[in-house]
Amino acid sequence: MAHILIVGAGLGGLPAAYELRHLLPHHHQITLVSNQPKFTFVPSLPWVGLGLRSLDRIQLELAKIVPRHGIEFIHDSITAIDPRLHQVTLSNRTLDYDYVVIATGPELALDALPGLGPETGYTQSICNPHHALLAREAWERYLQDPGAIVVGAAPGASCFGPAYEFALLAHHTLRRKGLRDRVAITLVTPEPYAGHLGIGGMANSRWLIRAMLADRHVDVIDNAAISQIEPDAVHLADGRKLPFKYAMILPPFRGPRFLREAPRLTDAKGFVPVLPTYRHPEFDSVYAVGVVTQLKPVEPTPIPIGVPKVGQMTEEMVMTVAHNIALDLGVISGQPIKPTLQAICFADFGDTGALFLADPLLPDSEGHRRRAFTTKGVWVSWAKTAFEKYFMDKMRVGWTMPWFERIGLRAIGLPLVESIVPESELIQVKG
Ligand SMILES: Cc1cc2nc3c(=O)[nH]c(=O)nc-3n(C[C@H](O)[C@H](O)[C@H](O)COP(=O)(O)OP(=O)(O)OC[C@H]3O[C@@H](n4cnc5c(N)ncnc54)[C@H](O)[C@@H]3O)c2cc1C
Repeated sequence: MAHILIVGAGLGGLPAAYELRHLLPHHHQITLVSNQPKFTFVPSLPWVGLGLRSLDRIQLELAKIVPRHGIEFIHDSITAIDPRLHQVTLSNRTLDYDYVVIATGPELALDALPGLGPETGYTQSICNPHHALLAREAWERYLQDPGAIVVGAAPGASCFGPAYEFALLAHHTLRRKGLRDRVAITLVTPEPYAGHLGIGGMANSRWLIRAMLADRHVDVIDNAAISQIEPDAVHLADGRKLPFKYAMILPPFRGPRFLREAPRLTDAKGFVPVLPTYRHPEFDSVYAVGVVTQLKPVEPTPIPIGVPKVGQMTEEMVMTVAHNIALDLGVISGQPIKPTLQAICFADFGDTGALFLADPLLPDSEGHRRRAFTTKGVWVSWAKTAFEKYFMDKMRVGWTMPWFERIGLRAIGLPLVESIVPESELIQVKG
């Protein structure tokens, strides 16, 4: 009997628990540990921050949904991990494991800039449910006395889509309230150009995003490093000062402290290095999925930024890890697999939306991808809402990737995972 421990019950951890339960016979024990009592569908948090969605609608009580699928659920925080002893520490006990799947998502580096908030500064964030609620309270106060808005990302950030969504949704909301004419919106980003997205841009993302922002009179300052934030102004490293009444600035991400403190487990930023199988290169019992995994940028940028890890890639990593653990346990036969790292992403801008497809996410050294595609239309907004409902329903009933979704994705050339070839990689994986 093996004990598989999953740390974190977000977009990576909860589906990983379900997929492992689906693949492994019940004499193998699966435990899911989460420091939050609820699962949250993070991609909908920009809506929550602007009061366009209730948090309840995108959360599920883990203690209600997880145990009925034959998975033990523990609501606690992991405070330490010893990958040599196969052991984690919770608030008042330790747990041993045979395999651990690290799915903690990011720790927000709010200390990256003086004045970066919300708890320790003056700006809002929408990166976790608590922050989205604080952002919404601040937004409601702001609507009583509106003024300039600054939306953007700090140097070192990796997730830029939500900044574009937030700026354009704020525009849409203010226009509907008849307030837009009284308010300037500025988007500040460390990306070399708006629409780079941390992946060197794709298809016409540069022109599409720029045109959408220009059409909606959102001023763009790109290739810009925020140096500090005061209660009413964002300061840039080049000396410019952007006054605001409301600011939402995405922080850089890093791996959680308990991972950073485990010798040789992570890189300097706390991200977990992985082989193509998503197993740790040194610690055989450690796998990782989602934002906490290490993904190196292909090209350096004038202001350092990271690579985004979007929801679909996280699901690909989940399928990969569950398959490869089942293979390791001898429960299934076949070859190890790896994620394709194809990414499809919907962004809602209120009266329209944009769909991005990058296959794979990162281009090769010559800047080429197999496919890259962007399109826009109000149907993308509807699709994003429909996808939220579909994903929440899947998590409620304990599905990861039902057969019809797999077939549908394969039909449009998005197989999610692939066998690991060539042979040399197989040898590396088997050690
Ligand atoms: C604002 C925002 C908008 C986004 N929009 C999109 C989008 O539109 N489309 C898209 O594809 N992707 C989007 N993404 C990216 C997507 O949300 C991530 O790819 C996905 O959430 C990654 O899943 P994860 O499991 O790594 O992290 P999460 O979903 O964040 O889950 C991690 C969980 O682990 C828990 N945890 C952390 N530390 C511990 C600990 N020590 N012990 C126990 N539990 C712990 C956390 O509390 C959390 O519940 C967005 C991201 C953000 C921040």
